[in-house]
Amino acid sequence: MSTSAMQAMTERRLQCEDAPIYLDYQATAPTDPRVVDIMLPFFTSRFGNPHARQHSVGWAAEDAVETARRQVAALIGAKPSEIVFTSGATEANNLAIKGVAGFDPRRDEIVTVVTEHICVLETCARLQAGGMRVTVLPVKVNGLIDLDRLAAALTEKTALVSVMAVNNEIGVIQPLAEIGRMCRQRGILLHSDAAQAAGIIALDVEAMNIDLMSLSGHKLHGPMGIGALYVRQELQRGFSPLFDGGGQERGLRSGTLPLPLCVGFGAACEIASLEMAAEAARVVALRDVMLAGLRRRLPDIQVNGDITARVAGNLNIAFPGVDAEDLMTALPDIAMSSGAACSSASLEPSYVLRALGLDEALARASLRIGLGRFTTARDIDRAVARMADEVERLRDVPNAKSDIELFKSS
Ligand SMILES: *Cc1c(COP(=O)(O)O)cnc(C)c1O
Repeated sequence: MSTSAMQAMTERRLQCEDAPIYLDYQATAPTDPRVVDIMLPFFTSRFGNPHARQHSVGWAAEDAVETARRQVAALIGAKPSEIVFTSGATEANNLAIKGVAGFDPRRDEIVTVVTEHICVLETCARLQAGGMRVTVLPVKVNGLIDLDRLAAALTEKTALVSVMAVNNEIGVIQPLAEIGRMCRQRGILLHSDAAQAAGIIALDVEAMNIDLMSLSGHKLHGPMGIGALYVRQELQRGFSPLFDGGGQERGLRSGTLPLPLCVGFGAACEIASLEMAAEAARVVALRDVMLAGLRRRLPDIQVNGDITARVAGNLNIAFPGVDAEDLMTALPDIAMSSGAACSSASLEPSYVLRALGLDEALARASLRIGLGRFTTARDIDRAVARMADEVERLRDVPNAKSDIELFKSS
């Protein structure tokens, strides 16, 4: 069923001339049909409470959860006993940072980065309000952190460094192995939000000296509503949970585990570990075609963030003179994202793009384009033609809104 389900899905999409083109894989990646097949029985015939210890239904559910735990652990080089299932990466980031913040009373400072996901920044802000000190490092114009600045920020007071593996807006890959070495040498804990990295690039918590790592199911073709936090074995004693309750997940995360979601997340991790390398090669080729095609029609576009230290499936492009919101309104059949719409209801331009030094106008002219497992060459050809047409049209037509804004600011 698995391969035929995949073929059926691709064929349905190919037959449907005017189906939307999905280029927002960093917002969410569709659950792989093979994963759905594996999950389905766990809602019905194979249901069960994995914490029920008195009957075989519970034991079978527990076995399935432990298989999933091994699959998640294997993807990042962890031990199964170091994986804590959560509702997603938002919860995992909260759990990681709040869980270790009070560990060592002599260390009361957290170091993080201005381009982190909003849930990391807000978690740090809450701890700061409670008395921790927080240092937010800037990034270079390419979106990567400056290791010398990081070294200068680390002191004997630093408890934790939190640096994401891959940025969700610009796709840049931070030098985690180097950061891990720097932290371990100084006895500082390292947390990494790897929601955009796990299943996309190779990760190894041991080799990279990472103490805590957050994962999200729906970013790697697993189901929504599940994720995990890797917590290095030695840290698990004394770790503060977010929830009080039945003490599941070795006391780190109370609550009944969602059996079908755990099974799906595990399966998605296993598929990713098998197919990641081939998929990256295929997707990067599509991305190169897309960028070349857009550049041919629109020579003045610019890529935001480093193009080399970057995951295969991300482009973030500024279209000078065009409002990205207007461009997306003109292209309702292409699912993409602007920084403004991405993380909140506010229409502020992306703080990530502003941190790279883009001015407000260029940040507002930028779109995030996310390619992935089910993106086809035909999707790319159609998207390039449609986007270039609309950019040209928006640049030609004098835009009423910009006229009003010009009037207001004069
Ligand atoms: C999507 C995402 C999150 C949030 O993950 P959820 O599982 O949706 O809570 C956190 N960090 C990064 C980098 C993300 O891309």
